[in-house]
Amino acid sequence: MRFTDIESIPKTELHLHLDGSIPMELTWELMKGHGLNPRPTLEETEKLLTMQPEDEASLLNYLDKFHYPLWITQFYENIRLVTRAILGRLADLNVTLVELRYSPIVHTYAGLTVRQAIQAVLSSMNWAVRTYGMKTGLIIIAMRQHGPHIAKILARQAIGEGQQFHTRCGVVGFDIAGAERGNPPGLFREAFDLARKGGLGLTVHAGEDEGSQRIWEAIDELGAQRIGHACSAITDKALLRRLAKDRILVECCLTSNYQTGAVQRGRRHPIFDFLEADVPVAICVDNATVSRTDIAKESSLVAEITDIDTVARIHATAKNHSFIAPRGESMGGE
Ligand SMILES: [Zn+2]
Repeated sequence: MRFTDIESIPKTELHLHLDGSIPMELTWELMKGHGLNPRPTLEETEKLLTMQPEDEASLLNYLDKFHYPLWITQFYENIRLVTRAILGRLADLNVTLVELRYSPIVHTYAGLTVRQAIQAVLSSMNWAVRTYGMKTGLIIIAMRQHGPHIAKILARQAIGEGQQFHTRCGVVGFDIAGAERGNPPGLFREAFDLARKGGLGLTVHAGEDEGSQRIWEAIDELGAQRIGHACSAITDKALLRRLAKDRILVECCLTSNYQTGAVQRGRRHPIFDFLEADVPVAICVDNATVSRTDIAKESSLVAEITDIDTVARIHATAKNHSFIAPRGESMGGE
């Protein structure tokens, strides 16, 4: 099938953080409901939650933007509402499969349990399946700065909410995120062993703020089937060959990579090196609100350098790398 515009392409989103993608207006309204607006106007608050042109491109500056949305995502109903809003926007952009990701632990400060924090997201995912017919699943993130022990605890809880134990949406994958420096993948080996044995797909944020060695570790020590960002891989030809040979998909987030400094402004994005090296890729957003982007804009950035058929093929192929089990083939059956 040939496509004439980005909008009509059925899209796959494999790397989207829930907390960084809440529509700005909804964050503002929910903050107002709790009497929590950090600045007097929506416009001023927006500067705290989104990367600004004058912000220095660094991962730590980028991560700083996640502070304020967390004020409102400590309550079941709010998590349910923001998930609905995110999935509704994705349906409008013709996204037919989406894996949302988040770290439930940082949403338990008001007393929710990890299980409740996960269930709040799953409940809206089930709604999106019914409403839009989209495929959805949740990836659980362990924050690197919480350390390997908390990651193990979280892996066990994630397995308990695995898609194989649900007749509808469930947890499909496990990931680590947060400050990459000082927290190498190898620290989290036991958590990833648990997650793999528990039937979860494995993805790792790696090579965003560190060299290609961290990507090797994510693959060899954690068994990653997909890598988030992997920007530093392009300096390592042997690694590119390995990614291609073992069909390890790179979740590419173009705008985000320029904002975090993973890719220098003016440089060609690594996704084009991956395509040339036959490494599987997905076009992803990372954080719609923080990065002020969406899957259509990111797809257009790739189409400008390649063409629309290539973008359609990337989205179609990325689907094959999803952790969401086809119905009836999950471990526990229906
Ligand atoms: Zn990410």
